[in-house]
Amino acid sequence: MDLDDTIANTTDEWIKEASLRLNKELHKEEIIEYHINEILDMDRESVSAIYRKVWETPDSIKLVDRRIPRIIEDLKEFYEVFIITATIGRRENILKWLGSQGIAYDRFIMVEHARNKTELGGDLGVSVFVDDNPNVAKFVLEEGKGIVMPKQPWNAKFIDSNTSNRLFPVSDWEEARIVLEGLAGNQWAHA
Ligand SMILES: [Mg+2]
Repeated sequence: MDLDDTIANTTDEWIKEASLRLNKELHKEEIIEYHINEILDMDRESVSAIYRKVWETPDSIKLVDRRIPRIIEDLKEFYEVFIITATIGRRENILKWLGSQGIAYDRFIMVEHARNKTELGGDLGVSVFVDDNPNVAKFVLEEGKGIVMPKQPWNAKFIDSNTSNRLFPVSDWEEARIVLEGLAGNQWAHA
């Protein structure tokens, strides 16, 4: 399970900060590429610097869906829950935030690059991923595993162009719960 924009709504805070810096109002709907520097007049380091700043004040970061703590708790009946993130945030800030939100996961693991998620997931026996990143989804599907993908403007093109029956786009976490409970015990899932 991913952190940024799957559990933690970091991009809403990113947009607020970036709007101030660019002196123009940005909207989430405009962010139709996962790498924001490809659509805004900003280099990659500036994009990262703002995400870093967002995680320096984690109290302002909201949950993507307020039902997440309860749903993760319920899913633990069927799954071990690993939060695997390539976030730019500092570990101590993130752990504090997860604790303050009441999220009870089994393991929290930071990786350097998103592409490390599938390698690590393979070692850990992860069968189903939950991630908004189309690049992660591509690797997961190539490896024959399942991915539940919270719909975001930056993964709409990927979802529209992908026909895999192991890709499960979801509009909210209640839908994610239903899909994940349905997958528990099938060929990809580990109870
Ligand atoms: Mg993410």
